[in-house]
Amino acid sequence: MYIYRNPYQPGGLFKMHERCSSCQTKYKMEPSFFYGAMYVSYAVGVAIAVAVFIISSVIIDASLPKTFIIIVLTLVLLLPVIIRLSRNIWINLFVSFHPEASVNQTR
Ligand SMILES: [Zn+2]
Repeated sequence: MYIYRNPYQPGGLFKMHERCSSCQTKYKMEPSFFYGAMYVSYAVGVAIAVAVFIISSVIIDASLPKTFIIIVLTLVLLLPVIIRLSRNIWINLFVSFHPEASVNQTR
């Protein structure tokens, strides 16, 4: 789906292939299609924040300000991963995944 496998590749975060290499589905099916992925990234970010909060607050028993800093750092470091994950989730809401498909198939 992405031209660079590594989301931390400088300048390569948003570089995507035009179409799926196996089923030819057009990824950007309409202009600014991936704006909706921002809503998904919000949900993903909250989910990660909650997970980090539980880990640092309950398991490591860090103080609240420390926990907050850890959460912010984690979200910033994971931002490229979150953005890509959100795009993948977003497109999966509209296109069904057929590993065996060889024709364009939109739900
Ligand atoms: Zn495909």
